[in-house]
Amino acid sequence: MLCEMCGKEVPFTKAVIVEGTKLNVCQNCARFGDDFRSGSGTGAPMGASVVEERLQRRERRMQTKDVYAGTASVEMVEDYGRIVREARERKGLEQEEFANSISEKKGIIAKVETNSLIPDDKLVRKLEKALDVKLRETVQAGAVTGSSGSGAGMTLSHFIKKE
Ligand SMILES: [Zn+2]
Repeated sequence: MLCEMCGKEVPFTKAVIVEGTKLNVCQNCARFGDDFRSGSGTGAPMGASVVEERLQRRERRMQTKDVYAGTASVEMVEDYGRIVREARERKGLEQEEFANSISEKKGIIAKVETNSLIPDDKLVRKLEKALDVKLRETVQAGAVTGSSGSGAGMTLSHFIKKE
C-alpha cells in the first residue's frame, strides 16, 4: 500500500485525519494526524497537538500579515474649515487680519474655512502653527474606500487615529 502523505510503499496504512482530510498513511506519518477511529485511545494523541499547533501558527501568520498589509496615510480632517474658522475667531482675528499675519490672501483663507479649498502642505503647516490646531489625521489604508467625500464620515471615524 502507498502512504498518501510521504508516498512510501508500506505493508499497511492507517487512516488518520490531517487538517480535516482523511488520509491513509504509514506508521511514520500517522503521528502527524488525528486517529481516524476516534475514541480508540491507546496511543497518546500526539498528532492532534501537532496539527493544532500548525493551524494556530498558520492563523497567527495570517493575522500578522493583515496587520502589516495596511499602511497609514495622513489626510486632512473632514471639517478642517470649521477648525480653522473657530481657531481664528478664538484669537479674535478677522479673516483679513489673519490672512495678513501668515502672508496669505484673504480669499484663500475664506475658501479654506468653507472647505472649498484644500490647503497644500505648506499652508496646512502654516495654519496649524499659527492657530495651534491639527488639520491632518493618520488614516489606516484599507479602512478608506473611495475618496473622502461626505457621508463616509461615520464609518471612517472608527478607523481614524488622532495624531
Ligand atoms: Zn508516510
